[in-house]
Amino acid sequence: MNSKHNTKLLTAVFCILVAVMLVPSLIVFTRLTDNNLNSYITQTLDEISAHNATSTNDKINSDLILIDEVAERFSVINESYTKLCERLTLTSGQHGFKRMGIVDKSGAVYSTDGAKLDIYDNPHIQQAFAGKTVVSDVLPDDADGKQIFVYTAPIYDDMGTTVIGVLYATCDTQSFRVHLSESAFDGQGYSYIVKSNGSTVTDSAHPSSFKNLQNIFDSILASGNNQKAVDKMRVDMAEGNKGIITYTNNGIKKYMAYESLGINDWYILSVVPADVMEASRNNIMALILIITAIILLATILLTVALIKTDKSKRNELDRIMYVDRLTGGITFEKFCIDAPKLIDKSPEMSALVMADLENFKLINSLYGHAEGDKTIIHTYSVFRNAIGENGLLARRVADRFYALVFFKDEAELNNRLMSFITKLKTSWNNTNAEFNLNPAIGVCIVNRSEDIETLCNNATIAHDGINKDSGRIAFYDDVQRDKMKNNKALEDKMEYAHRHNEFVPFLQPKYNAKTGRICGAEALVRWRNPDGSITYPDRFIPIAEHNGFIRVLDRDMFEAVCRLQRKIIDSRLPVVPISVNVSRQLMYESGFADDYVEILNRYGLSPNTIELEITESVLFDDFDGFREIINSLRQSGFKILMDDFGTGYSSLMMLSSVPIDNLKLDKSFIDRFEDDKGRKIINCVIELARSLDLPITAEGVETKEQCDFLSERGCNIIQGYYFSKPVPQEKYLEMLKEDKEVDDVTIPIPIIQP
Ligand code: C2E
Ligand code: CA
Ligand code: CA
Repeated sequence: MNSKHNTKLLTAVFCILVAVMLVPSLIVFTRLTDNNLNSYITQTLDEISAHNATSTNDKINSDLILIDEVAERFSVINESYTKLCERLTLTSGQHGFKRMGIVDKSGAVYSTDGAKLDIYDNPHIQQAFAGKTVVSDVLPDDADGKQIFVYTAPIYDDMGTTVIGVLYATCDTQSFRVHLSESAFDGQGYSYIVKSNGSTVTDSAHPSSFKNLQNIFDSILASGNNQKAVDKMRVDMAEGNKGIITYTNNGIKKYMAYESLGINDWYILSVVPADVMEASRNNIMALILIITAIILLATILLTVALIKTDKSKRNELDRIMYVDRLTGGITFEKFCIDAPKLIDKSPEMSALVMADLENFKLINSLYGHAEGDKTIIHTYSVFRNAIGENGLLARRVADRFYALVFFKDEAELNNRLMSFITKLKTSWNNTNAEFNLNPAIGVCIVNRSEDIETLCNNATIAHDGINKDSGRIAFYDDVQRDKMKNNKALEDKMEYAHRHNEFVPFLQPKYNAKTGRICGAEALVRWRNPDGSITYPDRFIPIAEHNGFIRVLDRDMFEAVCRLQRKIIDSRLPVVPISVNVSRQLMYESGFADDYVEILNRYGLSPNTIELEITESVLFDDFDGFREIINSLRQSGFKILMDDFGTGYSSLMMLSSVPIDNLKLDKSFIDRFEDDKGRKIINCVIELARSLDLPITAEGVETKEQCDFLSERGCNIIQGYYFSKPVPQEKYLEMLKEDKEVDDVTIPIPIIQP
């Protein structure tokens, strides 16, 4: 789950990073490029403007040089002005002037085209008389009223000191148009010459220029929303500065560079349509935009692809992680993720249930794995049905299932579990396998404050507490948990206790029912702790049986009893047989009888000093094996006491075929002494035992009534608190001493000296 979120997060972070890095850098890059391109445009315009200015200047200057030279030559030619004027006709035509001519000191004007002019007082004429070569402002032609400007140069006398006349050359402003139209950008650019107040000197012949240009400012203002541009231009031109503006002419954006020509207050204006100027810039910008779009698109595609592969990988992983290949249900990992959510969501009570099959290992090894798999699949489907739709079920490993079951009351929970148990048995009709499916179920009622691991653990603990004698369902509670904990602690201490002789036998004397004298004893193990306290066998025997330590314990007791008997014999105290308990596990251990005989010999004891108590339930494990072992033990000389008779289901008829020496009636018989039926049963059992010639010991006799009743019916030996509790060895020795005349009904003990 976390991994799922992590990859999502990573992908998101990756996308954001890409966007964060890519978009601003593209914006910055675009800006920079735009700025560069703008300055490129400005620079280009500047260059165009300078070029136009220079070429216009060159043209005017070359005209001025020309008339200067002509005027200089005239000062040395001694001819009449009329004659000179005739000479000028050719020059005028060659240089495209409207006319040329001379003004003499008297104001008489000689013109190449014969025009009668009155121009003596004109400022540019006067400036020439003052010795300057100048260009006039734009003015109307006296002859035809058309716009002209005039070059004037002084004609000196032959001494070269006095101005005697003025040479002039008149230019039609229109004649500049041609020159100005030969502009840059494949004829798309054009120029005007205007005065600093905006009034026209030369308009342009270019088709997209202003027609009938009177004043450039007015024309620009009239052609669009260009106030700002005009304001800037006005200020610049009034101050003699150059500059660039953009304006729109009927929606078409144009650039205009203006620059002083240095002649009069004339400005040359160079105009280029923006689309021409910006064409390359726009191309570059479009390219950048396309690249940006491609990069963004690629990033998006990459991210989408990443997310998709990530998702499909995750799906694949999820499938591996969360689906149980055998049952098709969820895995335990998924269970641990989903169960807490379901518990949180549901208002109902719930239980964590752990179940497995009894003897599953056996099924697997006897019938093969395929059969084992079938069993698991079947169990899963029955369990799945039993827990209801809102429940959750997962297989952890092998036949181990964990389920979350919701219920309204414990009855519902029980019903569900019982239905699982019964349906599992009844619905299993696999002809290949004649085995029953018996589940063992551990239940832990969910406490919402506990995490899923603890709940599963508790259900497992409950499950592990199930044994042959308990039911198929066990509930977990804290008491159980504490017990498990304590058991573990005890288990850990057992080995040490054994090495330090902490296990000691207590002796519970057995009494002759007729005489009331000691006729034997049973050795019962006690765990004497280093602090002197005693732990009783009900606490540690089940654990020892579980972990196999019971064999060590039994042997310890046997040897301790041998040591005690030796001591009793040596002390010349009366000797009665002492019985020791033999656990089921020890019984079936090969060589156990030989081992016991060896110990017996080591203490120089005859086997009739020790009796062996074997619990009735051992009979069911393996009847023939049991009989064999009993026979060999008896051959070694041991007497065999059938312990706990009545707790199992062996019949007395069964016992008739097993050679035992004494039948110990379990305490549960004596407990039923109070009711009639109970007494009848006791009667019956004693009768039958006697008919088989079996001596009978009654265990757990606590009252005189019980004792009297039993002895009256023919019970031979009485063992119980009525006479004595199990006592320490020292106390037992005292009891033997006191009871000097030990009952002679009991088996005579030959005393063998070592
Ligand atoms: P058990 O062999 O049936 O032992 C008899 C138990 O009944 C003893 O409990 C004894 O103290 C108790 N008892 C005797 N008379 C009375 C009575 O009048 N009233 C009541 N209420 N109880 C009486 P203990 O000593 O706690 O032993 C319990 C069980 O532990 C034994 O049951 C036996 O199965 C097992 N055990 C004890 N020592 C050994 C041992 O050395 N080896 C093995 N394998 N098991 C042992
Ligand atoms: Ca016993
Ligand atoms: Ca017993």
